[in-house]
Amino acid sequence: MFICFKKKTYFNDYYTYGDIMSELKELVKKFIEIDDDLNEKIEAALSESEELDDTFEEEHKEQIEQLGNIYHDIEHIVFSEEFIIVSNAKSEQKEIVALIISEEDEEVEEFVIPVFTDEEEANKAIELFKEQFEENEFVCDKKTGNEIVSEYAEDEEFIGLAINAPQWDFVIGGEDVHECCE
Ligand SMILES: [Zn+2]
Repeated sequence: MFICFKKKTYFNDYYTYGDIMSELKELVKKFIEIDDDLNEKIEAALSESEELDDTFEEEHKEQIEQLGNIYHDIEHIVFSEEFIIVSNAKSEQKEIVALIISEEDEEVEEFVIPVFTDEEEANKAIELFKEQFEENEFVCDKKTGNEIVSEYAEDEEFIGLAINAPQWDFVIGGEDVHECCE
């Protein structure tokens, strides 16, 4: 089933910001659970034969579809909801903290922007950032996923938004953050 969160936000008065963020947390948790489970099955299948045959997809159709639907629901929340972003206040220009995801020996420096569902998650990450950049001061702002992604639209090294990173390991691709139900 596909749920449009934009509609929920605008047409359901009982749906508050806190509810949407806890729903997002649930969705990400569920996504990771199903994804891990599928990956285990893929590994098991690959230990028996060299490559996955067509029946694998057929046999796990339901799970694969469910995964796609959950990801789509996450995309919609990220598009329209405000997240906390963390900036480094001491650099010459106030600069959003970005996380490099490329390996050190790679030529390009691909990065994700960490976005946080609440202050608690943001503060946990700031503690870790402080360990990496000792002489620094971090400040928080709020922006919707859509606003952040638009700012990096021209940047080829920008991969997407990392929700509650580094605590969580979940990145949503920049090109996936979208709105499709009017
Ligand atoms: Zn959509």
